[in-house]
Amino acid sequence: ASTMADEEAAAQAVASLQDTGAPTVFNKVLKKEIPSTAVYEDDLVYAFRDISPQAPLHILIIPKHRDGLTQLIKAEERHKEVLGHLLYAAKLIAVQEGLEDGYRLVINDGPNGCQSVYHLHVHLLGGRQMRWPPG
Ligand code: C5P
Repeated sequence: ASTMADEEAAAQAVASLQDTGAPTVFNKVLKKEIPSTAVYEDDLVYAFRDISPQAPLHILIIPKHRDGLTQLIKAEERHKEVLGHLLYAAKLIAVQEGLEDGYRLVINDGPNGCQSVYHLHVHLLGGRQMRWPPG
C-alpha cells in the first residue's frame, strides 16, 4: 500500500522533471564553472561527455545559448538554425568518434520523456548494439 510519504516522494520526483525556466547545470558547464570533457565546439553548439554514460560513448550536444530552448516543445521559428546545427554537429561527432557502424540520438522531452535538465540537449550514444524499443 502506498503511504503519504510515498505519494509526496512521487510528487516531488515528477516536479523535479518540470521546466521551471531556471538556469541549469549546463549553464555552469558552458561557463566552465563545472569541468567537462569537450568533444566538439563551434559558434552555436558545445558537446561534452555525459558524466553518467549509458553506453561506451555518451555525448551531450547543447546550444551555447539556451534562448528559451529549455525543451524541444518550446522551439520557435527562430530556433530552426540551431536545431539543424545540433543534428549536423551530431553527424560530425559520430564521424570523429568512429561510429560508422551506427549510433543513436535521443532527445528526452518533458516529464514523460524523463527530461531532467531543462536546457535542450541531444544525447549521442554509441559503441555498443542498441536495442529497440527504448525504455
Ligand atoms: O535527457 P536528460 O535531461 O535526462 O539528460 C540529462 C543528462 O545530463 C543526463 O544523461 C546526465 O547524466 C547528464 N548530466 C551531465 N553533467 C551534469 C549533469 C547532468 O552530464 N553535471
